[in-house]
Amino acid sequence: MAKKNGTHALDVTVQCPACHEFGVFPTWDVIDTVDEKLKERVHFDEDLFFYTCPHCHAKIHMESKCLYIDRDKKLLVWHIPDPKERVSSQEVQDALGAPSFTKYTCRACLTWGEWREKIIELESSYDDRLYEIIKYGAYQLLSEDGKERLPLEAYHIDYADDSHDADKLALVFMQKDAKGMAYVYPITDRLKEVTQDIFLPIVEQIADANRKAQFDRFSYSWAKQFVTYVIKAAEEDKNRETFGNLIGFWVKTIGDEIFRQEVK
Ligand SMILES: [Zn+2]
Repeated sequence: MAKKNGTHALDVTVQCPACHEFGVFPTWDVIDTVDEKLKERVHFDEDLFFYTCPHCHAKIHMESKCLYIDRDKKLLVWHIPDPKERVSSQEVQDALGAPSFTKYTCRACLTWGEWREKIIELESSYDDRLYEIIKYGAYQLLSEDGKERLPLEAYHIDYADDSHDADKLALVFMQKDAKGMAYVYPITDRLKEVTQDIFLPIVEQIADANRKAQFDRFSYSWAKQFVTYVIKAAEEDKNRETFGNLIGFWVKTIGDEIFRQEVK
């Protein structure tokens, strides 16, 4: 029996912002990884969500709602460009008629970039929320000049090398105004362990961790709020010295493991 394929294509009418002519952009609102070629394209085709105007040839980045389903890994990842929009697994179930998605890990993302990054994080054996915490922490170690040169908008998690090993991911800092120029820093096992030891118990405690079938946005901005909250709570705690030391140790580990340098 053929596997059920929930992939759903649609044509979106686009008005070109450059020349104002209309055109059609063929895209998808559901991508099911049963369709292996399409899965490949989500991971590696950088032009997948670009519309090229047939009139003036302007290249436009499209943002429209799309659900990624991986039935083997039990993942549902929504790209939902509207930050206010909420979705539930019931809505997915109604649309797809599948028996149940309650055992799935569900995430929502604001942009195509975040969406692809989240899919890569979820395919690894490490917690995606901890990846976001590492990503946030490492960016804080850049100087003001570094932040200017390596803008946050283009900073992301990706495969560390061409082996595309799901457990070998890296922090990628793209250079501003230098197309394709990037610094790639592999995320080491030691940094993953230290981050997990320090933060996972708290993530599980306050982020309602094992709640499946809820579409949460565990993004860089979530990690920022989370780490800020944790540091504030630690300052108010009577054991603050202990926890402050742990955070200090974590920051030092990022410096050692990612940037290979002393952090003062
Ligand atoms: Zn145009």
